[in-house]
Amino acid sequence: ITDKLAALPPDSNYFSLEFFPPKTQHGFANLHARLSRMAQALRPLFVNVTWGAGGSTSAKSLALAELTQRSLQLTTCLHLTCTNMSRRLVDDALEQAKALGVRNILALRGDPPRSDEYRDDSGDQEALEADDSNKDFMWAVDLVRYIRKQYGDYFCVGVAGYPEGHSDQSHPEHQSVGHDMPYLVEKAAAGADFIMTQLFYDVEAYTRYERRLREHESGLFKTIPIIPGLMPVQSYQILRRTTKLSHAALPPDILKRLEAVKGDDEAVKRVGVDIITEAVETMKSIPNPGPRGFHFYTLNLEKVVTQILERSSLIPPATPIITMPYSNGGPDHAI
Ligand code: FAD
Repeated sequence: ITDKLAALPPDSNYFSLEFFPPKTQHGFANLHARLSRMAQALRPLFVNVTWGAGGSTSAKSLALAELTQRSLQLTTCLHLTCTNMSRRLVDDALEQAKALGVRNILALRGDPPRSDEYRDDSGDQEALEADDSNKDFMWAVDLVRYIRKQYGDYFCVGVAGYPEGHSDQSHPEHQSVGHDMPYLVEKAAAGADFIMTQLFYDVEAYTRYERRLREHESGLFKTIPIIPGLMPVQSYQILRRTTKLSHAALPPDILKRLEAVKGDDEAVKRVGVDIITEAVETMKSIPNPGPRGFHFYTLNLEKVVTQILERSSLIPPATPIITMPYSNGGPDHAI
């Protein structure tokens, strides 16, 4: 990802798309067809493949990464969590990612580490103690350090950032940007190459967050790519649920516009496209030390994100095919 960013003009824009592995063969086949269409029509700089906390989707995530990286030749960023799963699974995931040609990992913690009481109740204590990653991996920074130790610079490593604070189930209270900051500093100092953010709708909060990072006294965030995470509005119910889960605020004007049409699913999508397109336009104008990126949580859906990308002119031109008249391959032979 960082190599691709270095090759872009500094004042350009780019975007990435996130997908999760479907549960069934049928869902996988559908997503395969959709991804092929989206890859050709939208040309994202890279795509993300999510990882189920605790390794719950490990085989399916790797299968999806194989499809995106190998079959569709899309630069792929595999998410990887590190808590509540065996160290062997972390090692296997990294080895398999490498074998597939995946060069990018989003290093995450996942759910808070299970408590000792939980582990005492869960059967073969000796096996768990020998293999449980909780001793090695408590926080995402542990995974960043581990990847750097085991693989040097082979992987481009991203980490999560939270423009509106962080909701951590192991802490009773919603955490603030200020509380998270020292830990984000640790992740950057441990070798993170880019920051990708939690979804948000409050563009002012994001702008403040980005400025705070850029001006941070450590100097670690001066030029690091910070990629804002945006979730297209698919329905009023999904919006309410996801913003509640991620503790993303819905600014009153946005809520008002969506509530006015909440009974009409198509209108909600239309207004949602307006809202996200406006957010992209606003963020394009924030001064940035390099190309300005946008990450879209697609929920594996195609239409709404396509409309947003078209409206905000984020789709890069197709690589021109040079045709050679009367070459060996005939008049239409392309190189
Ligand atoms: P950390 O950076 O470790 O932070 C976790 C919390 O602990 C924070 O509140 C931080 O302030 C605090 N903290 C960190 N270090 C310390 C320390 N040393 N001492 C005390 N407190 C500390 N989850 C998945 O399961 N699969 C995914 O694919 C996935 N993708 C994601 C993509 C993005 C862009 C984002 C933003 C989140 C994603 N998540 C995913 C969710 C993520 O796993 C959770 O938000 C998780 O609770 C925290 O992960 P983290 O990497 O931010 O953890």
